[in-house]
Amino acid sequence: MLLGAIADDMTGATDLALMLSKSGMTTVQVIGAGSVSAAPPEAEAVVVAMKSRTNPPDEAVAMSLQALAALRDRGVEQVLFKYCSTFDSTDQGNIGPVADALLDALDAPIAIACPAFPDAARTIFQGHLFVGDRLLSESGMRDHPLTPMTDPDLVRVLGRQSMNSVGLVDLATVRAGADAIRDRLNELAGMGVRLAIVDAVANVDLRAIGEACRDAVLITGGSGVAMGLPENFRRTGRISAVGVVVPPDVRGPGAILSGSCSQATNGQVARYRAAGFPAFQLDPVALADGPAHLSGCLDWLAGLDGSAPCLIHATAAPGQVATAQQRLGRNRAGEIVEQAMARLATALVEQGVRRLVVAGGETSGAVVDALGVKALRIGPEIAPGVPWTETSGDGSRLALALKSGNFGGPDFFTEAFAALP
Ligand code: ADP
Repeated sequence: MLLGAIADDMTGATDLALMLSKSGMTTVQVIGAGSVSAAPPEAEAVVVAMKSRTNPPDEAVAMSLQALAALRDRGVEQVLFKYCSTFDSTDQGNIGPVADALLDALDAPIAIACPAFPDAARTIFQGHLFVGDRLLSESGMRDHPLTPMTDPDLVRVLGRQSMNSVGLVDLATVRAGADAIRDRLNELAGMGVRLAIVDAVANVDLRAIGEACRDAVLITGGSGVAMGLPENFRRTGRISAVGVVVPPDVRGPGAILSGSCSQATNGQVARYRAAGFPAFQLDPVALADGPAHLSGCLDWLAGLDGSAPCLIHATAAPGQVATAQQRLGRNRAGEIVEQAMARLATALVEQGVRRLVVAGGETSGAVVDALGVKALRIGPEIAPGVPWTETSGDGSRLALALKSGNFGGPDFFTEAFAALP
């Protein structure tokens, strides 16, 4: 195993696995540290998908160290800690605490922290993260239900989370090339800095950063930073394949579960509803009031004729989310919705659904857990960062598309089903 990745959420893991497989690495996504052994021996890259982004920091650290141990058992050479390109976290963590723990466990002098993903309009300049032409703090991420991002200065954000001091490799250095980046990282390490935010505004920057990290035992960042890593292995003749993408060979009815409240998902839900497809909105407050709301949804499902993929969503506008959170508390509102989504996923599969789109990283984690999925084979890309995948594990074989909240165009849901044979 050349590259082992520890991803803090399900959709981020899929996004990364897609990036690596498109770059020609034989890549498998496994669910949780316990499933690393399920990865076939030919896997050159293994992405361990966890659901640790919003757990208490000590839990996230323990889960990440378990994943690291499982990857080391398989002889991993380079470790990538993958988080969201919008740096989703709170002042308690979990990016800083997990990065600190992995640095120590791997005895790494320094690691980069680079969530930039220019193809998805996430760029970093002078340590500040932009979403499109807005600072992170002025993007939809300021209203995220679990990890609202209100400070765009990543050196400052990571500094609040990490026990280590945090430095910056600026764009001028990145543009000077891989050697200059390496020199700057060595200089920072010499000053006792162990985490370095790295500027990147274009793919050429990510490739230079990837080359600079040729010998790094630990890299941290978004899926974008993985763009430049396979080339290091190709250059030394250790991978040769060009990714062959095979769509999931799974027939059967489709459905959509959406628990993301991002701007992009709100738009996708509105578009799908407006097109007249069957849709049901879950209300967290009604879910908390007793079993009637969820039973109502299950009855509604049972009455559908299955001719078109139905949509069940808790996706709501920021005002509605705020109301639910005031009534229930932020974490409880999220948990209640995730539990309902997990139950609904099981019910859908029992009713014969075999093609499932899930919107939202935490939501996808809850659904994949409930369905007992162990590993995912990466299939064709629906939208940047979102592939169809095919499950393996104890349950029925499924085609799953796990969409990070912010990803996909307005017609993502219809495009997803149209992309299957
Ligand atoms: P994203 O990929 O957009 O971050 P996630 O699924 O990771 O989406 O996170 C969205 C969180 O918001 C989940 O925990 C979900 O249960 C919660 N949630 C969904 N709908 C609502 C709602 N109407 N009110 C409050 N919280 C909600």
